[in-house]
Amino acid sequence: MSQETNYKAELVGVFGHPVAENPTIVMQEAAFQALNLNWRYLTIEVYPQDLADAVKGLRAFNMRGINLTIPHKVEILKYLDEIAEDAKLMGAVNTVRREGDKLIGENTDGKGFLRALRDDARLNPAGKRAVILGAGGAARAITVELALAGAAQITVVNRSVERGQTLANLLKQKTPAAAEFVPWDDTYKIPTGTDILVNATSIGLFPEVTARPDIDYDSITAAMTVCDVIPNPPHTPFLKEAEARGATTLDGLGMLVYQGAIGFKMWTGLNAPIEVMRQALAQAFGQSV
Ligand code: NDP
Repeated sequence: MSQETNYKAELVGVFGHPVAENPTIVMQEAAFQALNLNWRYLTIEVYPQDLADAVKGLRAFNMRGINLTIPHKVEILKYLDEIAEDAKLMGAVNTVRREGDKLIGENTDGKGFLRALRDDARLNPAGKRAVILGAGGAARAITVELALAGAAQITVVNRSVERGQTLANLLKQKTPAAAEFVPWDDTYKIPTGTDILVNATSIGLFPEVTARPDIDYDSITAAMTVCDVIPNPPHTPFLKEAEARGATTLDGLGMLVYQGAIGFKMWTGLNAPIEVMRQALAQAFGQSV
């Protein structure tokens, strides 16, 4: 056996329940292979009552990090040594990284969105006005990152009043952005002067592929950047309507790839092969790219 022999793989993965359909393994494993890294991404079923033990296992196995999905994103906060500022504001962690013995909680969902905005739409959100449809986990992550990146005004439009109001209050009280809540009880008209419009609801997600948010599509202008969080299928009816009005568009597949790429960098310290990851995910979703 030569001195360089090392059969030990570095381990990362995801804890969730249900977790069998989580596609993240596809893009992370493709990235490890592309960079010739002896790393493995494990898709692990963890029941809600077992999360504490699972985190002990993560420490005992010297895993390099973990993703969290339903229902663990909030509960995980109790078991970590440190939480990044943005994840603390969101109250949710989707990625844990390790620094020595410390487990540090991060949230890459909103960061992935910001990177897509900056790198693909060439838009700096500082001073911009944003309208977000939805007030769930994705909307929370996106609006907090937009606010921290200096967005001037954030309008949260949501069906459930309580959820929408709570998010707008959080933004108003804990970030420098001006925020307001608008109840979504009728066809919503996008205000003049909006720079960024985001569908952060689950409307349009497979298999509801023909569904689209109830907004006045003629209020979208060519000056707007219109984004959808739906990764599958990425070319949603919402984005098609925006394209038809000349708007710049960003799809949810890009956001998903970038949030995974940010996690990859946190774990390995290396820049992620974005295109390899995008192709792998698109293929898993049955999309041609
Ligand atoms: P949540 O369940 O936390 O929130 C869902 C949101 O959608 C709520 O605001 C809900 O409104 C709204 N909504 C759902 N159905 C309707 C409807 N028929 N009419 C009006 N509003 C509706 O989900 P998440 O925020 O976690 O996820 C939302 C979407 O984002 C999912 O499709 C998910 O796949 C996607 N996502 C994409 C990511 C990416 O990287 N591309 C990352 C994370 C999520 P109400 O409060 O009234 O119920």
